[in-house]
Amino acid sequence: MHLRLIPFEGVRILAPAGKINDCSCCSDICCVGPRSTVLLRLKDIATLLDLGRSDLLTTQKPRFGEDEQLSHPALRRHLASDAWHTFPVLRQDSMGACAALSRSGQCSLYPHWPLSCARFPYSLHADEREVFFSKRCESYWIRPGVDQRIEKMARAAVESYNERIRDAVLLEYARDRLGQIGLLPFLAEQP
Ligand code: SF4
Ligand code: SF4
Repeated sequence: MHLRLIPFEGVRILAPAGKINDCSCCSDICCVGPRSTVLLRLKDIATLLDLGRSDLLTTQKPRFGEDEQLSHPALRRHLASDAWHTFPVLRQDSMGACAALSRSGQCSLYPHWPLSCARFPYSLHADEREVFFSKRCESYWIRPGVDQRIEKMARAAVESYNERIRDAVLLEYARDRLGQIGLLPFLAEQP
């Protein structure tokens, strides 16, 4: 990861205009399953503590087989990142569903959900300065009047990346302060 923030201006949105996820008609639930494990940022952890939801934090993470990693290079890079080893994830229940998912299938954290959830299904390809619509979301519309929602997700995708940079800087230079405000105990490793 380069320690350089990416400004939203100048990032291209690589998707047809008006392409928006249609969660109401989706037979998939992207809040369920090991590959949907939500890796958190310091800001997410602080938000969960403010909400009194530290019960959702865990350093127990799923394991992925070699075959699955080979067929999903982005997953492999994610698992090899410092962030995956250092930061907690949202806990999943015994059925593999995010523990923040309500019985009616709603996100109980919204609108204070993690940055990764706020951007999905839009993702950033940082090297290319491109935001794209994830192939993992197969239920979508292409329709007018959704530009603001798409821009909000695209901005969140960039912000999600930038927050990782801020986290790396804070861990390097402000570790004591992070300890004082109670965030360090939720990190898996203290290198
Ligand atoms: S896969 Fe896409 S459409 Fe389905 S719930 Fe997730 S974001 Fe919504
Ligand atoms: S925090 Fe909300 S949106 Fe994100 S995975 Fe959990 S239930 Fe889904």
